[in-house]
Amino acid sequence: MPAKKIPTKVAAKKTPAKKVTSSPTPVKRVVAKKASPQQLTNTESDVGTPLSVIIRRRIEAQKTRFHANDNISAFIKPGELEKLVDEVAEKMQAVLESLVIDTQSDHNTRNTSQRVAKMYVQEVFNGRYVEQPTLTKFPNVSKLNELMIIGPITVRSACSHHFCPIMGRIWIGVLPSKASALIGLSKYSRLTQWVMCRPQIQEEAVVELADMLEKKIKPIGVAVVMDADHFCMQWRGVKDRDSKMVNSVMRGAFLKDPNLRREFLSLLEKR
Ligand SMILES: [Zn+2]
Repeated sequence: MPAKKIPTKVAAKKTPAKKVTSSPTPVKRVVAKKASPQQLTNTESDVGTPLSVIIRRRIEAQKTRFHANDNISAFIKPGELEKLVDEVAEKMQAVLESLVIDTQSDHNTRNTSQRVAKMYVQEVFNGRYVEQPTLTKFPNVSKLNELMIIGPITVRSACSHHFCPIMGRIWIGVLPSKASALIGLSKYSRLTQWVMCRPQIQEEAVVELADMLEKKIKPIGVAVVMDADHFCMQWRGVKDRDSKMVNSVMRGAFLKDPNLRREFLSLLEKR
């Protein structure tokens, strides 16, 4: 089913101290090319080399970026993710030891390294290691060219700076052209999760998402607004419990047409 306007939920919320930033300029990003099977073949010299080093070499051979919020799935062979969990667990165990925690006799932390490793690789940072979800596209048969708003999409991420949780919401505005390919409603959410399940920086995350939507849908305009709690501000640091961050990215018509932008933002305020 193609995306359409969805009813708004009124969110009764605390009035947080808001930091509003806007970043209309796209971040330049190197897109990972799928490595050829040859490049993925381990050589004799790989024996005893940590898997992370082997993967890293494949990425470097392609001169591809592998920052915390990049996806590196093109460089990982089937079955390797489980082995990566083992390597992370081993190194996480070393962290616990350096924190002088007796994981031998403390039943609570005995398997913590394994649990944390699994959580990172298979859950909260999984968007780095798995391929982009496939997006079924629908031709815009009814030639929709009116503003669509998708959201709020629940966002769970972690900041690249502290690996502390980021919990928030995202709204996506799309102004399709008559020639745009539309994607199903649930796909906006899948794509968002995929981008957010990585160590992220909010300003970069919204840009990354907007780039992807522009590429997939080829709309006249796309807008992304993210509103989130950063636990690195609450659990540590200034310990400001009400601190929130709001970011927006406006592209195409949303950038050029103040009325469209106003319409989109006013609809969000009603949520
Ligand atoms: Zn942080």
